[in-house]
Amino acid sequence: MALDSGGGLSLLLGNQDVPPVLEENARGRSPFLLTCDHYGRLIPRRLGDLGLPESELTRHIAWDIGIAGVAEALSKHLDAHLIAQRYSRLVIDCNRPPAAASSIPSISEATTIPGNEGLARDAAEARRQAIFDPYHGRIREIIEQRLRENIPTVLVSLHSFTPVYAGIARPWHIGTLYHRDTRLPPLLLDLLRSEPDLVAGDNEPYAVSNETDYTIPVHAEARGLMNTGIEIRQDLIADQAGQTQWADRLARIFAEIETMLRAQRLLPA
Ligand SMILES: [Zn+2]
Repeated sequence: MALDSGGGLSLLLGNQDVPPVLEENARGRSPFLLTCDHYGRLIPRRLGDLGLPESELTRHIAWDIGIAGVAEALSKHLDAHLIAQRYSRLVIDCNRPPAAASSIPSISEATTIPGNEGLARDAAEARRQAIFDPYHGRIREIIEQRLRENIPTVLVSLHSFTPVYAGIARPWHIGTLYHRDTRLPPLLLDLLRSEPDLVAGDNEPYAVSNETDYTIPVHAEARGLMNTGIEIRQDLIADQAGQTQWADRLARIFAEIETMLRAQRLLPA
């Protein structure tokens, strides 16, 4: 496939496809920078339905159900910049290193993705150039701009998870995900665990690693930025009422965290 070399959208995305990057509240004054790798489930028109029925394209293998509404409301409540990605992770997973097999999965959970089987290298590269690169390029650009302008930046990567995976039920309502940051995740975990109605996972249902993640290792850990991932169980945020409740709760908790980080001089007082 021919690609344009001008740094614009590749030919994978045509006139009727929307850009991959969605931003809210770009002038937000919060130190928290919100990212949402699995915000959307769009598929570029050229790729059709990837050979999958609608029933597969609406479930968690395609996107993080419910997180878009939480991310947008949280961005408003915190006055925080949100950078999100609109295309399905079945097209290309924006939280996987592009060299990983799971970047463009030919199988997800127990579902074979016909449109991803035996994918030629230039077709994979086209997906990267059209979707992955603009999204991560924008996050990089914003972080660098904030650093230049001395705006404190704490990366919060928002996700949702399925209550049952490969037949195993997961008991948590929410989990913190982290690897190298020892500052923010313990504060967040403490506050989540002091909510009487919550079961909060410590690096559950996933932990962050360089092999299985991209956003936190590359944008936050490599720069020494404070960061955490958050996973919310998708059935709790499947409708707007749930999304509103969780955004309200997280806004309250992150306001407390901001106060604690300022008191500890981890953010400017
Ligand atoms: Zn996710």
